[in-house]
This record gives sequence, C-alpha cells and structure tokens, in this order.
Amino acid sequence: MKYSVLDAIACPECGGQLQVEVFEEINISGSRDAMAAGPCTEYCGRNGIRPQQAPDVEANCEACRSHEILSGVLKCACGMWYPVIRGVPRLLPKELESSSMFYYPGFFEKYEGVLPALQREQKAEVEKGLEVKGKEDTIYRFTYEWNEFKDYDDDNFSIGIGPIGDDFFQGKRVLDAGCGAGRHSRAARRHGAREVYAMDLSNAVDAAFENTVSDGSINVVQGDIFHPPFKRGAFDLIYSLWALPHTHNPPQGFHALVPCLNSSGSIVVYLYNSQRWLSYKILGLMRKITLKLPNPAVRLIALALGTIDYGLLIKPYALLSKFAPVKAVLDKVTPSHIRLYSTRSFKTCHTDWMDRLFYPYVHYYSRVDADLWLRREKFAEKSILTLGSHGLIVRGTGLA
Ligand SMILES: [Zn+2]
Ligand SMILES: [Zn+2]
Repeated sequence: MKYSVLDAIACPECGGQLQVEVFEEINISGSRDAMAAGPCTEYCGRNGIRPQQAPDVEANCEACRSHEILSGVLKCACGMWYPVIRGVPRLLPKELESSSMFYYPGFFEKYEGVLPALQREQKAEVEKGLEVKGKEDTIYRFTYEWNEFKDYDDDNFSIGIGPIGDDFFQGKRVLDAGCGAGRHSRAARRHGAREVYAMDLSNAVDAAFENTVSDGSINVVQGDIFHPPFKRGAFDLIYSLWALPHTHNPPQGFHALVPCLNSSGSIVVYLYNSQRWLSYKILGLMRKITLKLPNPAVRLIALALGTIDYGLLIKPYALLSKFAPVKAVLDKVTPSHIRLYSTRSFKTCHTDWMDRLFYPYVHYYSRVDADLWLRREKFAEKSILTLGSHGLIVRGTGLA
C-alpha cells in the first residue's frame, strides 16, 4: 500500500479520513514511474496534510508513491481500525473483521503488542446473519480460486467493458470492483487509466498485489462493494466485470458504488442475461452439491467436467472448423459456449468450470431490471447493451 492510497480511501463504517501507522515498509523509488498518477489532492498520507488547506506547504508526493507499506494499521477517529497485511489495506466492514484474523493469524501474533486493543465485535463473535455467512463463503471460495489460479489470464476485458472510444480510460482514476487476481486492472492501465484501485472482498487481493505491484499506478484494496472504503466522488470511472452478480444483492451493491463516482463519472457493470435460464438452472442444481464440498474436491470435479467438455466438444470443433465449408455447417448447430472456448486454452476451460461450481450467489437480469437501476440514479446518459443471450453491459454517466 502506497501512502497516496490515503488520498482515496475512507473508513468503510463512517466515511472518515484514515491515518496510517507503519510497521514495515520498503522504498521502491527508481523501480517504477512513481509520479505518473500525479500528486495527492484531498489528503497527503506521507506528509499528513490536506493540500487544499495548506497550499504553502510543499508536499513531497514522490515519497507517497515510492514507498510500499507492507504492514501497518489504519485508524479512524470513529475508533475503528484496519490492518495492512502483505501490502494490502484490509478495509472490511465490522461484521467481516474477524476474517482477517482467521486468514492471517501470523500478522496478529507478530504485532499483538503494537496493534490497538481489539474491538468488542472482534473479541466476541457477533451474531451473524445469512448475509454475512454468504460473504464469508464468498471469501472462502474466491480466495482459493484466485490464489490457486493467479496466472489465469483469459483476455475477456474488452467483452465485459463493451465497445469504447480511445479516451474511455485516458487519464482517469478508476475503481475495479471485484478485481480477482487483478487482470482487468492491468487491462485498464493498458487502455490509459491514470490510476486503478483494484478491490476484492476475498484474499484474492494477495494474488492481485503480486500481479500488479510492478505497476506504481495500481493500488490493491480489500473491501466490500456494499461498504465501499472510498471517499465520495473519488473516481472518474467504476467498473465491475463478472463480479456484481455474485453478491447477495446486486442492485444494492450497484447503488452503494455510485456515490464513489464524481459528478461526470461513469459506471459500467456486466450482468448475466436472464434469457439463458435453462443452462443457469442446470448449473444451479450442480452447485447445490458442489457448495457443500471443500475447495480441492470442487477443483477435481471441475477438472473432470472441463476434460469432457474440452476433449469431446471444444477441441473436435476447433479442429474441424479449420476447414471453411465444415465450419459453415458446424456453426449453425454448435452452441455459442463451444465456439467461444474453441479459441481458448484447456486451462481457461478448467478454471471457468471451477468458477461456475464455486460461487455462493449468482443472479440474472433482464434489460428492464437494469433500466430500473439506471433510472433510480438519474444518470444523464445511460445505455444497456445486450451480448447475445448471455450478457448485459449496463452503463451510466453523469449524475444529476
Ligand atoms: Zn470511521
Ligand atoms: Zn502525497
């Protein structure tokens, strides 16, 4: 975590400014273009000042961006505090705090003497509703998936974002909500984003940190879409690809993200189209079984299904369709799923099968549903693009 992250993040409970206490940091100046994303504007973390209120003080923001805080603690005036573990700020809401203690006991042991006293909610396990259990399951599954398959690099970014002009990302501060192992954040930077915040609920953020640390303009944050740990108006663009439908309440998540946009900002979300209800029903039945199994067992089932799918359908189609006349006939009868995967590797097929058997939640929407989300936010410009029978790209720009 760079000090400059304090410019954008906020306490997920009260929205207050966070202050950092550093336990361990490294200076990485010279190893990457630290200042490409510009100086701090709202709050300068390294110098502890608000640049707008102290125009005479020369803030050295080079240092904000050239130091990587590996461990520390973020404190809010409201009394909440959040650990920085393995270079990533863990800005989970109160009800999920104990998750960090469960997954990173070594951090809490090592810094026991210097960490603030544990909050009451952390000591006594709070009564957890179904919603929190669902989020914990989501953390469990996606932590495994994206740390085990951290080099998964299927290039579907342009499919999820949809058609864009050259300036769509140019110079923008962007939030990738539900970043997994961070491949879409890297894609956003390649398209010209000035700075990307990559957020995920799960410890997939560890893989994302590793995959993006060489880029000084990508910041990885662990956080919950329903309690976004950012200041109001912090972003020019927010996107969430293949992530929002895997939360317990996607429209609620969408409306929680919108206040993080500035007045001219845009949001893009990829939703599953409810038209493909039959395959969704079948997958739903399979998940009733797989969600009761531990992660390695689901991985094996996905391997078996992926092998059948790839060996019996996808590969034969890929081979036969090399002959144009055969392809013309085959394309008429081959499901889009097989055509799509014929250009992809077996590994992609296996990982995607695991994904389908893994997520605790999945929701499907029609254009009418998506239109209601956009209307509620009163966007100046809005659009819904249908991608065959499988996806909807929902976009809103400019808040009235
Ligand atoms: Zn607070
Ligand atoms: Zn600064």
